Parts: sequence; structure tokens; C-alpha cells
Amino acid sequence: MSDAIIEVRGVTKRFGGVVANEDISLDVERGRITGLIGPNGSGKTTLFNSIVGYHPIDAGVIRFEGREIQRLRVQRIARLGLLRTFQQTRIYAKMNCVKNMLISVPHRKMGFLDMFGRHTSEDLEKAERLLDFVGLYEKRYLLAGDLSFGQQKLLEFAMALMNEPTVLLLDEPTAGINPTLINGLIDRLKRANSELGITLLIIEHNMRVIMNMADKIYCLAHGRLLAEGPPEAIRNDQRVIDAYLGAH
Ligand code: ADP
Ligand code: MG
Repeated sequence: MSDAIIEVRGVTKRFGGVVANEDISLDVERGRITGLIGPNGSGKTTLFNSIVGYHPIDAGVIRFEGREIQRLRVQRIARLGLLRTFQQTRIYAKMNCVKNMLISVPHRKMGFLDMFGRHTSEDLEKAERLLDFVGLYEKRYLLAGDLSFGQQKLLEFAMALMNEPTVLLLDEPTAGINPTLINGLIDRLKRANSELGITLLIIEHNMRVIMNMADKIYCLAHGRLLAEGPPEAIRNDQRVIDAYLGAH
């Protein structure tokens, strides 16, 4: 039996006349790294938005840990342990890294201290531990806006980890990052998976990156599922090659 933590079944999402996702079905296996690829405009981000409850879908079912979630709101789904990051970085440039970490847990149940904008020593310890995990410990009191773009991406990743997600959806985590820093980010993502046990679903533009990380890859084209399989099979799939060559 498969151990799918996320099951997408027959999902369709339209924007007016545009069918952004059409009858998509896929599984995200628990504890694994799953890749989602496809040319620009093929519907990858739309599918992420549907999974995390950012917008309602027109047809289909989405299950998380066996439970239907397609009618639940974003906050509710996040509290269940399913989180996403964005293509555009969302950090607070005028706050230091630690502060960014401490305010990044809106999905947790509000406690007494949170209501006054305070934090517990456990929160602070956790923030520092996770900043260390992504390699930003030395920079923890720098303003987030003074970090390099790649470091801001690492901070954003650490901010997501503050929420202790069961599954993390990453939308083009390496986009815009200096190629020399990409390997460091890949390493952190892999360690989040292997050491922290977080299931990852990653949209990635860089084929080398996703081939290196994913256990299984799904490829979208024109809003439909074009191919699925292990990286080696996807790399050599003529339909996938044609979809990328045909993309402008
Ligand atoms: P990808 O992430 O693969 O580049 P998207 O999911 O962003 O693709 O977009 C898929 C299609 O849906 C595109 O044609 C895009 O223009 C359209 N689309 C996405 N979001 C919206 C929206 N909020 N309103 C209208 N059209 C949208
Ligand atoms: Mg996108």
C-alpha cells in the first residue's frame, strides 16, 4: 500500500476562461521529496494554492493524512501541518532574523504571551536552533533586509520550519539564487527531509536541482499532468523534453 500523505484526485481549477489545472491527480509520499516541474504557466503554482486552501477548486478532492481538505481555509490547513513558501520572498526587511523567526508562527494557537507580542524562551531557543540549522546563526541579529538574496531565502525557509510543518511546499526555492549558493540550499532542504522528517513537495525550475533531490517527479504542461516517475525516467521522457523545448 502506498503511504500518500497528500492525495490529489481529479483537481480542476479555472480562472475565468483559463483552465489552470485540469483533472490533476498525484500523490505525495510521506517522508519523501516529490518534485513538480513544467514550463512557465503550466499550472504549478495554481496547484500549490489549491492544496494549501488559498483558493477554492472547481472539481476534485484533496486529502491530507486521509482527510478531505479541499473545502478548508488556509489557516486551518496550515494548523494541520501543511505549509507553503512563496515564489516571492516574504520577510520583514526592517527586523532582524531572530525577530522574523519569532513572528512567523501565526498558525499556532495563540497563547497568553503571544497576545502581547512576547515570546517564550523556548521560542527563542527554537529560533536560534533553526537559524543555526540553515547556517544563519552568526547573522541572527542582522536586519533581514541586509542579508543577500540567497540568505533571505534561507531565512524564509527557517521561518517556515518554526511552524513545525509535517509537509512543506516550496515554490521555486532556488529561483534567483547565486549558483554557488544553490548547493548549500539543496543540502539544507535534504537535511530538513532526512533529519527533521519533513515531507517536501518542491516546484523547481532548475532541472539539475530537482533531479538531484526528488524521489519522484510530476511534470505538468498546459494545466495537465504530462508525466510522472523517478528522476531518471523523467529526464529521458520525450514528452517532457518536448514540453520544455516548446515553451517560450
Ligand atoms: P506556473 O506556476 O506553472 O508558472 P501558474 O499556476 O502560475 O503556472 O499559472 C497557470 C495559468 O493560470 C497561467 O495561464 C496563468 O496566467 C493562470 N493564472 C494563475 N493565477 C491566476 C489568477 N489569479 N487569475 C487569473 N489567471 C491566473
Ligand atoms: Mg509558478
